Amino acid sequence: MTTRTVREIVESVPTSDGAGVRLRRSLGRSDRARLDPFLMLDEFSSENPDDYVAGFPAHPHRGFETVTYMLDGHMQHQDHLGHTGELRAGGVQWMTAGRGIIHSEMPQQERGRMRGFQLWINLPAREKMKPAAYRDIQPADIPVVALAGGGQVKVIAGTFEHEGRSTPGPIGGLSTEPRYFDVELPAGATFAQAIPADHNAFVYAFEGSLAVGGRTLPAQSAAFLSAGDRVEAAAGPQGARFILLAGRPIGEPVVQYGPFVMNTRAEIEQAIRDYQRGVLTQAA
Ligand code: MN
Repeated sequence: MTTRTVREIVESVPTSDGAGVRLRRSLGRSDRARLDPFLMLDEFSSENPDDYVAGFPAHPHRGFETVTYMLDGHMQHQDHLGHTGELRAGGVQWMTAGRGIIHSEMPQQERGRMRGFQLWINLPAREKMKPAAYRDIQPADIPVVALAGGGQVKVIAGTFEHEGRSTPGPIGGLSTEPRYFDVELPAGATFAQAIPADHNAFVYAFEGSLAVGGRTLPAQSAAFLSAGDRVEAAAGPQGARFILLAGRPIGEPVVQYGPFVMNTRAEIEQAIRDYQRGVLTQAA
């Protein structure tokens, strides 16, 4: 077993997206700050309605998946086909944009804390133009595993192994085989998990303090992990909460233009043309 260490820190930077939602972006802050198959990670967290009420009015996507994990608050999602989904605290929306989706993500609260993550996961070329799909996952459908040494893990995607027991999350069977775990550790507790050696992995600590591979991570930063087949982490004196993501790299060229992520410049130009002509979401 080789324990993964920290290969690179990608600090989050304040930015805004949608109609002016303030957030912190780590992965995706530049073209270089990606970890195949993960394209972008935004953390939004605010008690101030001015930071979020404007939401994300109708906008398109093509070529990848967006995963929204709400920690606090309530957003409503709507798309061009009339689908409506409620995103509430502890819930996840797993959206496969495929060939095209036009949707909005709007806060359903005017006060209080809104907090969560949006992660973008790439699709391989052969899946970029598949039909759009959604999974709205309720909090009760996300298994919670109590750790023997204290703390807990919410299993959003992939299978979590602990004490000889396998716990699959609600999302599985994707070609990038994503693992998405939300881990909460009390002060001094440790965490360990086997991750396939050929998968890329990162952690993002968002509460307390966390050490990975013996190195204490800066708050609200993504830590890209080195090669290895095991992740080990330890909480500092305030405890820690972090997300651990891992996935099978796709190994294809990535060309991104805003909400479109394809393999070539020509495919991006096609996406822009399709959107302008109102046929982004239609089969060729
Ligand atoms: Mn979106």
